Amino acid sequence: MNLLVKELIQPLLNFNLNELEDYEMKYWAIYADIFDTLKKDPNKIYNILKNKLTGEHLKALEYFYNEYFLRPEKLMENCGCMHTQQPINFRSALASLTKYMIDQGYNITPLPKVKIINNDIENADNILGKTAYYDPSSCSITLYTLNRHPKDVLRSYSHEMIHRIQDNEERLNNVNTTNTNKDSNLQDLEKEAYLNGNMIFRNWEDSIKNK
Ligand SMILES: [Zn+2]
Repeated sequence: MNLLVKELIQPLLNFNLNELEDYEMKYWAIYADIFDTLKKDPNKIYNILKNKLTGEHLKALEYFYNEYFLRPEKLMENCGCMHTQQPINFRSALASLTKYMIDQGYNITPLPKVKIINNDIENADNILGKTAYYDPSSCSITLYTLNRHPKDVLRSYSHEMIHRIQDNEERLNNVNTTNTNKDSNLQDLEKEAYLNGNMIFRNWEDSIKNK
């Protein structure tokens, strides 16, 4: 890609960079039931719940109420159905998939931070470039999204979430290579991530399509 084209499209690529705030993701993935309760009668239920809830539950209540019910246009925009209907954008799909994993009992909390890189042109041009990785030291998942179908990125996320589980179970400690041909332990960890990551993704997809 020539330099001029790069300069022209760069601002577009940066748009929506890191659109996903970790706290929002957490609230949608873990406390979506609070949103559902609020939906029934927002003001009344907010006033009751704010005196009953504490800690993270209270924070989630404040978030949902302030973000969606004080601003009805946002409710319309997001259609308020991040977890109950077909997701309308990448961000709601990510939250929905995460919630599904938690509901299925996957050991993924505390949730990893999600970093979205959508402007790495060189990496996107490289046939064997990076697609995603889990970093145990910062408990984060990095997703490279440029030129990829969102569904493919979600599948990567699902794969990395299996590594998150392996980390929670302290099974990533003895890995000191990224070459699966050199380390049978890594080979097994990857097998598990490919199989379980793909299957949970497919199960989530089917659960939404057949709602
Ligand atoms: Zn992997």
